[in-house]
Amino acid sequence: MSLKRYGAFVSILAVGHLLVPDGWWRTITYQGIGAIALVTAVIGVRRWRPDATRAWWFVIVGATLCLSADLLYDLYLRLWKTDPFPSIADVLYLAGYVFYGAGLMIMVRRRAAKDRGDLIDAAIIAGGLGLMVWVFMVVPTVQEDGSLPARVVSLAYPLLDLFLLVLLVRLLTGRGGLAVGNLACGMLAGAFVSLLTADIVFAFLEDYVNGTAGMIATRVVDEFFLATNLLIGAAALHPLMTDLTRWGRVPVPRLSRPRLGVLTSAALLAPIVLLARSHLGGVDAWVGTSIAVASALMFVLVVLRMLGLIRQVETQAHELTALSLRDPLTGAANRRGWELRLTEGLATASRRRDPLCVALIDLDHFKRFNDTYGHQAGDDLLRQAVAAWQTQMRPQDVLARYGGEEFILFLADTSMKQAGQILERLRKAVPHGQTVSAGVAMWDFEETAEQLTARADAALYSAKHAGRDRVVLAGYLDLDLGSEHPDGAPGRNLGSEKHG
Ligand code: GH3
Ligand code: MG
Ligand code: MG
Repeated sequence: MSLKRYGAFVSILAVGHLLVPDGWWRTITYQGIGAIALVTAVIGVRRWRPDATRAWWFVIVGATLCLSADLLYDLYLRLWKTDPFPSIADVLYLAGYVFYGAGLMIMVRRRAAKDRGDLIDAAIIAGGLGLMVWVFMVVPTVQEDGSLPARVVSLAYPLLDLFLLVLLVRLLTGRGGLAVGNLACGMLAGAFVSLLTADIVFAFLEDYVNGTAGMIATRVVDEFFLATNLLIGAAALHPLMTDLTRWGRVPVPRLSRPRLGVLTSAALLAPIVLLARSHLGGVDAWVGTSIAVASALMFVLVVLRMLGLIRQVETQAHELTALSLRDPLTGAANRRGWELRLTEGLATASRRRDPLCVALIDLDHFKRFNDTYGHQAGDDLLRQAVAAWQTQMRPQDVLARYGGEEFILFLADTSMKQAGQILERLRKAVPHGQTVSAGVAMWDFEETAEQLTARADAALYSAKHAGRDRVVLAGYLDLDLGSEHPDGAPGRNLGSEKHG
């Protein structure tokens, strides 16, 4: 059976049922259409074989129990001419709701994200709708008199409604509102919306509407109950029904415009209920307290939700800033990060009168390395060199990628001699026998950052000129650093370069 054919068929039947006058034919058509819907649901479940099939069986058993309760209720009225309350029919209805809840719970557990924002959204929506159920259904029931079983059963209805409502909200708001893109979920949700609407309207009619208007409205409510079965059948027949019990891997949704609209409406339900209730005949202490508590709760939830969003934005901004200051290949600071740190470093050094050195390191014949081993190997070497250098550096030192294979180093509170020693260590730490040249300049407390860097660059140029694989200190002649060059000549690599 195709979904389209089922839809067309049951729509005709449902309209037909609406026109059938009260009496046995009405019971027969109602039961017949309900049974067709349930058989369709079974066909759908067997056809698509969803994960956690039991969730669907629970829903179908729930619908079957409710349909049997409808039949029993009609038998009471038409055959036995009584209207007992509570009756076995009520027990069947309530059991049906429990099965509905069990099915929905499995779906929610698999689909809805355990994200804080998502949970708060669900709490806000369930809070607004829950207040409605509470004020219009639970409170009047609590205030009614009657036998204990009668009161327990009349209280059980709205409480189970509330339970289903919370689950439904979780199903619809979790994981990006599955209902929007998934017709099966939309129809199943429609089934429960229809059921809850029928329950709420039914309770409202009982308490506030009498006469012919009430009679007509009750007939319409019947159609809502019928629609629940029809929609369960349609949902099960849709191929996307399998998504409902599949473990969700969809990312947590952002606060979209429709979602914000729904949340705002839900939060506004408290004043709306207050308005409606005060027009319908006074607000007593019970109702007043419930609305006040719900409003306060909703306010706190909205604030919590906003707080979560602000935190999220702050964290993201923080991460973005960190990313924007870092070189993605090597993880060292990038030019922008470097400039920030250098400005800070110069200010601190100037204040404390601490010596400060800047060094430029350039990989020797790196073009050749790339040509020989490939660009990928070149990238790996850059990464490995930075990692190796970082193990040799002190926490206060800053290493940045200045250009392609050129790095710049900032050494706070470091004399020229110490800087030379550090650079020697770094020079020897480069992996795979790759050599580097470096130029170091010490700040004279007067020159600009550009002038200081230019002197380090000039020293690097000298190092390259003098044959590479060495460290040159700007303005120094053969400072003995106790370092040894591979060729055995101590200090040979420390060329000199007079500046200015
Ligand atoms: P010198 O000793 O004079 O510095 O020689 P060199 O070959 O290192 O210098 P040159 O400036 O001529 O070439 C630098 C090379 O570095 C060019 C380019 O292939 C390589 N390079 C620059 N950036 C990257 C990078 O991100 N990854 C890789 N694999 N290679 C890069
Ligand atoms: Mg180079
Ligand atoms: Mg270069």
